[in-house]
Amino acid sequence: MKHTADPKAPKVASEGAPTFFECPQCGLLTADSRFGADEIVCPTCGAHGDGRRTFPPERLCRLDGRIRHYRDDGEHEIVVILVETFLESILEDIIDRILTARGADVMVREVVLDGQRAIGARIGRLFPHLTGEQFEEAAAELGYREFPHRWRTLRAARNAFIHDSPFRGAQETLDKDDAATAMDLLDQAYELFVSLNNRFVAQATPDVPFCERA
Ligand SMILES: [Zn+2]
Repeated sequence: MKHTADPKAPKVASEGAPTFFECPQCGLLTADSRFGADEIVCPTCGAHGDGRRTFPPERLCRLDGRIRHYRDDGEHEIVVILVETFLESILEDIIDRILTARGADVMVREVVLDGQRAIGARIGRLFPHLTGEQFEEAAAELGYREFPHRWRTLRAARNAFIHDSPFRGAQETLDKDDAATAMDLLDQAYELFVSLNNRFVAQATPDVPFCERA
């Protein structure tokens, strides 16, 4: 599957950050390189791609590269901590894109995101409020049923490792299995968050204010 010539497949999904091309009109993200090369129009809105807007952003690509480097070195703890950082960052990007698609300006987006800094609240409250769906439901519908649960479990392990938990005590190490879970989540995150984008950003109808959907 990795070596397929299918232009619709994301490039080298498991060995680096894949590249998605963004429709300048509706915000659709697609791995189809023909759209990036302007050989086909956007399947959602018919606009031409400009090939310049890509996802994930440069800082996430760099982080991805660093994570894979630490994975190769067997640095399990650093892998888990950096993957958690990555996932929180990509979630913030998607929420920001959903807010933008709903017509929020920079100031509103900043106020909303600053007001919900905790990752649990972003997933548990902000996401359903903006989309009308629980994150778990949306992930399951897009084929990633296990993702939210595995992410939560890894987050708990990371937290127990970094902070002494008065309930469970400190977790001494993050091991090889934790790092493997983290790498799975990293690889799945691209497709999942792009699918969420295409569902809630590219399909957004700005004429229906999101407050009416709550
Ligand atoms: Zn489009």
